[in-house]
Amino acid sequence: TGLVVAIDGPSGSGKSSTSRGVADRLGLRYLDTGAMFRAVTWWMLRAGVDVQDAAAVAARVPELEVKSGTDPLAPTIEVGGTDVAVEIRSDEVNAAVSPVSAVPEVRAWLLELQRAVIAEEAALGGIVVEGRDIGSVVAPDAQVKVYLTADPAARALRRAAEEGGTDVAATEQSLLARDKIDSGRATAPLVRADGAAHLDTTHHTLDEVIDQVVALVDR
Ligand code: C5P
Repeated sequence: TGLVVAIDGPSGSGKSSTSRGVADRLGLRYLDTGAMFRAVTWWMLRAGVDVQDAAAVAARVPELEVKSGTDPLAPTIEVGGTDVAVEIRSDEVNAAVSPVSAVPEVRAWLLELQRAVIAEEAALGGIVVEGRDIGSVVAPDAQVKVYLTADPAARALRRAAEEGGTDVAATEQSLLARDKIDSGRATAPLVRADGAAHLDTTHHTLDEVIDQVVALVDR
């Protein structure tokens, strides 16, 4: 079977840029599982579902239809046939994604989809998968596992820059609120998976971090 590289960590740790850079360097495909949870969240909000009501969220799961493109240079995400790449980065989705992601039925439904994409792409050559629970739950057999972290201030600066926002303090508050829910939830909390290499990106450039991950793959 092909290569699977699992990259987990909190928002703003450099996961997306690192994962895409590693995939591009090594000629692998790329899956952003955070984008899948965000797409589900966008759909629930648009459907008028109360995202704090886990039973209401779970009841709508059978209606979901999510599709992820796996080109690291041009990742795409669709829900119900709508391209939501821009919409899933909104403040509304940022505020609602952690409660939606904590719903076991949402996780179970996406887990199946994630594993199908990974199996297909691994068979074709290999894939870099980023998220919170990839090394621990989604792909525990991944050949390479990385746990990325960075200081909250550095994460907030990066996220604010990506989102074109200027309110770094508000971005940091939003990040820390999501961290708290993501680490504390019962199902698949954010943890360092067994065997995952811990890389702290606070004082490293993107290229340095990509080099470090590529070195783990080459080893
Ligand atoms: O990585 P990103 O910030 O886009 O993820 C958004 C949210 O999706 C996270 O805060 C978390 O609640 C959820 N998530 C998850 N499991 C994953 C990926 C993301 O619960 N594998």
